[in-house]
Amino acid sequence: MLVVISAPGSSASAVGWLALWVLALFAAVTVHELSHCLAAARRGLEVEGIVLLPIGGMSQISGLPGPPAVELEVAIAGPLASVGLALVTGLAALATGGSLWPPTLFSGSWLARLAWLNLLLAGFNMLPALPMDGGRVLRALLARRRNQLSATRIAAHVAQVIAGLMIVVGLLFDLWLILIGLFVLLGVGAELRSAAIRQLVDGLVVADVMARDPTSVPAEVTVAELVAWIAAFPDRALPVLEGSSVVGVVAMVDLIGRPADAPIASVCDRTSPVLDPSMAIFPAALEVLSRYHRDEFAVADAGLPAGVLYRSSVEQLLRGAGRRPSVPERRRAA
Ligand SMILES: [Zn+2]
Repeated sequence: MLVVISAPGSSASAVGWLALWVLALFAAVTVHELSHCLAAARRGLEVEGIVLLPIGGMSQISGLPGPPAVELEVAIAGPLASVGLALVTGLAALATGGSLWPPTLFSGSWLARLAWLNLLLAGFNMLPALPMDGGRVLRALLARRRNQLSATRIAAHVAQVIAGLMIVVGLLFDLWLILIGLFVLLGVGAELRSAAIRQLVDGLVVADVMARDPTSVPAEVTVAELVAWIAAFPDRALPVLEGSSVVGVVAMVDLIGRPADAPIASVCDRTSPVLDPSMAIFPAALEVLSRYHRDEFAVADAGLPAGVLYRSSVEQLLRGAGRRPSVPERRRAA
């Protein structure tokens, strides 16, 4: 729409071709993103979706950045797919009598245009500006010889310089570059925060942070019975046991306004996941916390109640993010 609106006075057919060209651009971006997603799925990461934005695409993959080898593989997959598409369309252009030189995006044969478009897409994404693909590749390479936080810091400085250049060049030539520069600056901030958090909680699992207590409540207990008990410990939550396995969690907030004779089975929260004690805090448990608006999560070990993970405990742990904790401090926090 934006491209079509910004081409006033053009003939209907010119606008039609322009719209088709924009569709081709997004098709190329989609193939690029799908390639990231396939690489991630091959490594067992969960792909939630692809978002197409006016400035490009974004794959939503949970569990990233992960180990450097995984980040490298996932990051490079997109540009490689774009180079592959460029080769295929370029060869097809030559085979059908088109020419690839001089470079063209807006005139000449469609196959030649697509070839240059995909090559441009690969090249642009490989700029070493975190969170773009090239920046991820750079960080993953740096992380082979140093820790994640210091690798992220170096990649972030490079990205800030490139983003600054983009904004300056954008002011002179192309407003889109300013948008992308701002996008990079925002992304760099998020990457730095995430790396600081990771440094702080790396190696910690749910079992290190949860309240360790095998107490649970059977699903057939009534609201009135549980209220009598929980009133003495109003801040506590309990795993709910149905048969021999944990099916959910219940806290005071779930009991308020419920009929006194209702069984806990019908009022407890079964939608938030029951966590495994061996689940890593970063990124798995943090992703659960950001996805579910719940302050406590049941933890079960092979189906048996093991404890409760409280959001407040995790937040307390994260409050130290930004400063570098000494080892004894980490143990105490855990
Ligand atoms: Zn990419």
